[in-house]
Amino acid sequence: MLANALHDILQRLDNAARNASRPQVRLLAVSKTRPATAVAELAQALRLVQPGCVAAFGENYVQEALAKQASLGGLALEWHLIGHLQSNKARDAAAAFDWIQTVDRVKLVAALATHRPAGRVPLNVLIQVNIDDETSKHGCAPGDIDALAAAIASEPSLRLRGLMAIPAPHPDVELRRVAFRAMKTLFDGLATRYPQVDTLSMGMSDDIELAIKEGATMVRVGTALFGPRQ
Ligand SMILES: *Cc1c(COP(=O)(O)O)cnc(C)c1O
Repeated sequence: MLANALHDILQRLDNAARNASRPQVRLLAVSKTRPATAVAELAQALRLVQPGCVAAFGENYVQEALAKQASLGGLALEWHLIGHLQSNKARDAAAAFDWIQTVDRVKLVAALATHRPAGRVPLNVLIQVNIDDETSKHGCAPGDIDALAAAIASEPSLRLRGLMAIPAPHPDVELRRVAFRAMKTLFDGLATRYPQVDTLSMGMSDDIELAIKEGATMVRVGTALFGPRQ
């Protein structure tokens, strides 16, 4: 079941990248609300089709990720935080995750940098942008990206990798395209100033193809892999 869904998604990613003449796109499997057994099953399925590739999982809550990691024991996986991060959770997050995709204020940068455990590789960081300027959404304004990028780049325990966005789920595809394009422009600008920037995280189950066409390098997929959430 899960193996079939994974196969379909990888096919969609491949096709979309090829049709848009873009390089390979990374799959982030969004495992929020799914049990650890589903994570293990997906990781196993991915090992069969892409040997040597580390499976990447996205979680919205620090505590949920910690619980899953504990029950998965030594399984070598890559964990991404894709939910809003409160400053008082920065210590746990800096230890539990390999990537934080939701950095949207300078205060959080310092907290993550301080709490990244010594001896670990730098924590990969994406700046979350509130691209549709929705009051209900987290993420910084486009005009704040530069200050955040400078703060992140100045911390040896952090590694600035790019941008992340959750555009408003407009039923009108063209409005979503506008948001994706705006993100791509911001991303290209950032990448010219910071050569280590290589990741534009946008697109979910509903708009994988559109996001890839407009320049996503990583898509975050939950429902299309694991089925509807309860
Ligand atoms: C839940 C979630 C996803 C996955 O959404 P699906 O529609 O289930 O693919 C992607 N990104 C973020 C930030 C999420 O919270």
